Amino acid sequence: MNGGANTLSEATIDDVRARRVWDSRGRPTVEVELRSGRSVGRAIAPAGASRGSGEVVDRRDGGEALGGHDVRLAVAAVNEVIAPALTGHRIGDPSAQLDLDSLLVRLDGTTDRSRLGGNALVATSMAALWLAAAVEDVPLWAMLGGTGHVPLPEIQIIGGGAHAVGTLDLQDLMVVAPGARSFTEALEWTAEVYLAAGDLMQRWRRRAGVADEGGWWPSFDSNEEAIALLAAAIDRAGFRAGEQVGISLDVAATELFADGRYHLRRDHRSLDPDEMAAQVLQWVREYPVLMVEDPLHESDIAGTAAFTAEVGPSVLVVADDLTVTDARRVRACAAAGAANTLLVKPNQAGTVSEALDARRAAAAVGWRSIVSARSGETEDVTICHLAVGWQSDLLKVGSITRGERTAKWNEMLRIEEHLGDQARFAGRSPWSGRALPA
Ligand code: PGA
Ligand code: ZN
Repeated sequence: MNGGANTLSEATIDDVRARRVWDSRGRPTVEVELRSGRSVGRAIAPAGASRGSGEVVDRRDGGEALGGHDVRLAVAAVNEVIAPALTGHRIGDPSAQLDLDSLLVRLDGTTDRSRLGGNALVATSMAALWLAAAVEDVPLWAMLGGTGHVPLPEIQIIGGGAHAVGTLDLQDLMVVAPGARSFTEALEWTAEVYLAAGDLMQRWRRRAGVADEGGWWPSFDSNEEAIALLAAAIDRAGFRAGEQVGISLDVAATELFADGRYHLRRDHRSLDPDEMAAQVLQWVREYPVLMVEDPLHESDIAGTAAFTAEVGPSVLVVADDLTVTDARRVRACAAAGAANTLLVKPNQAGTVSEALDARRAAAAVGWRSIVSARSGETEDVTICHLAVGWQSDLLKVGSITRGERTAKWNEMLRIEEHLGDQARFAGRSPWSGRALPA
């Protein structure tokens, strides 16, 4: 609640402070807290492990301690550079957020945000949203324009790639439940698949623990065996695979690419770009795959365009490293026909306004969008509100276990409950007008 006199039109920031908190990988990260009267807005920066080279960069201290990941310098950048500049700054309406984000970008002054740090910027930018919502005393999703749209969750079942030190080449084996009638039901169905997959992996002696985003840590003999197990888990949980529940693969192919070839170590194969595209296509055709992210490396726009055409409009081809939440890259990829769905990660862009620009660019070219967490996360739930407020088609948060993931899913349950009869669950709509693949 606000102090009374402090209405949104006249509210200004009177205190800015950053502190060092911890993320789900045991690394320090930046939390920013903004105050206006008695209202508080707070947000925490997440951190990626398989980062696109076009992303803004976090400020990390380097050196020996904590593997060089400490963020004392980024915290100091907020307290010493950002705080004096933001104190007295207007908050609230969208133009105030845009002004604030532009000020952050100017204060940093670099194209990759390396001076103050993408982590310092994104935490400050998201905290300003929460402060405006607190001053106005409305839910953040509503302040951002949400009226009832509820995204479809995209949930990891098996973690691989950079999230399980390369024990599988594929980075994320996820499921979506377009056949569910609500977010609540989609989570229930996914939990059944998660349990079925864990059980099967145990029987097949393929389960080695839990990976960075909460999915099962795999020990498969091949990438295809992992996909086959996930398809079997969907069946075993009692769902029609590809219709009620489908597979989503994040290939994160940039991580596999070196010297002009894709190295599928688990399969003991190295593929040229055409062979790699054909391999991913084969997985999509032989299994109930509804979505594929980054099938080829981050600079291969032409290859991704050919892949997108080949796979057809019934499969969501998701751009993550390819577009790094950058509106210009979205337009360039769309013009080339590369991908048809944007992954929106606010910390790839640096500020909320720049992420929104990318989301708008995606809508303008007829792409669908997915608001996404990072592999290094915290209890921060800002992305849930962005996904609802920005009417994003899907929300990607990692698996259904671990507190930093369940914090988001549980927040979505609260939002769906709050919406009640107004809730309109995305369900099959990301594929609308397109038959789901057979
Ligand atoms: P991250 O990757 O480790 O960079 O967060 C997640 C993803 O590729 O979607
Ligand atoms: Zn990705």
